[in-house]
Amino acid sequence: MSMPNMHDAEAIPSAARAEIDRLLTSGDLFRYTAPQDAPVALLESEFAEFMGARFALAVSSCSAALFLSLKALGLPRDARVLIPAFTFAAVPSAVVHAECIPVLCDVGENYRIDLADFEAKLPGCDAVIVSHMRGHTSDMDAIMALCEAANIPVIEDAAHSLGTTWRGRKIGTIGRVGCFSFQSYKLINAGEGGILITDDADLVARAVILSGAYEHNWKKHPVLAEAFAAIQNTLPLYNLRMSNLSAAVIRPQLPEVARRVRDGLANHNRVAEVLNDSPWLTVPEPLKGEDRAPDSIQFNLVGMTDAQARAFAQNAQSMGVSVQIFGLSDDNARAFWNWQFLPEAPGPLPGTRNMLMRACDVRLPARLSAAECDQVSQVLIKAAITTMAGQASVAAE
Ligand SMILES: *Cc1c(COP(=O)(O)O)cnc(C)c1O
Repeated sequence: MSMPNMHDAEAIPSAARAEIDRLLTSGDLFRYTAPQDAPVALLESEFAEFMGARFALAVSSCSAALFLSLKALGLPRDARVLIPAFTFAAVPSAVVHAECIPVLCDVGENYRIDLADFEAKLPGCDAVIVSHMRGHTSDMDAIMALCEAANIPVIEDAAHSLGTTWRGRKIGTIGRVGCFSFQSYKLINAGEGGILITDDADLVARAVILSGAYEHNWKKHPVLAEAFAAIQNTLPLYNLRMSNLSAAVIRPQLPEVARRVRDGLANHNRVAEVLNDSPWLTVPEPLKGEDRAPDSIQFNLVGMTDAQARAFAQNAQSMGVSVQIFGLSDDNARAFWNWQFLPEAPGPLPGTRNMLMRACDVRLPARLSAAECDQVSQVLIKAAITTMAGQASVAAE
């Protein structure tokens, strides 16, 4: 039985070709060369409209968007930024890049923020980045209520959450700023790229300048001139702009988002239902109010030792499905104990540690057919049975 290719991205819509040809012919690759309607500027207005946000700023990556958001909030050096302990290393890295200090809050076995730990660590923090890791949404009502009461701004790291909604609101529009990624493993693939959205004119004006809108290039952004005129020449230029070529690859994918969300969710739920029938595998329920847009599936191993968990991953691999256990794969960038660049020790974080030692990550692209999804589930079920054959009593010890 040959297994489906679970790694490759989808082809880029062919509409991108004519536009890329036009750009190659004219050589017009820099976003600020054309007086108006540069592909990057068009992407910004289309993305803002798509999300229902007032402003969008396209940049070189989601990490750049997070960094610029922290800088545009005006956070001073050594400001404390609360982030979940389950996220990608790029998130604490963006905080360190902005000369701030990441404070890690614990995460539960359902991959979502532990609200008691969040509430305990919020006092003394100057900003929060809610990282919707792998598209899992924490209780945004509770988080926003706590942050609004304490007057602490929230940045949403929605790198992997395009298309997810929380009680009907689009993820990325709930906090002060939302940041998205167009890196190849995300819902829209440009190789690299990112975008931030906000309704805050002063904040986006600062982010636009900081991103590299030198001299009067800010006039090519649809923001109130007063917001810009007041900050002319007062901010550093970090040059984190997006190229027109990236925008040309991204724009024709926007109409694909709804289909990718629908198919990705159907694939995820189809596989989750089968896995949940196994006594050794469990897929945490989404929170009530959350409508997900997954392109991968996460599940926890139940009743397995470290050795059995490793054997499970090997058994699945030998049948053609690559399983990554976040905390058991060497130097994993999503295991907080590997973030040795943190300026402050992160504390014990027992919920996150226990979860990472048993949480499995399997890519599940939206383009897989139902039959291919069933092949994947069968391999995972079989790998668990092979691993645990005759070992139920050992696991129970
Ligand atoms: C991919 C990812 C990032 C980083 O995005 P880049 O565009 O590669 O910088 C940040 N946070 C999360 C949750 C991600 O999945």
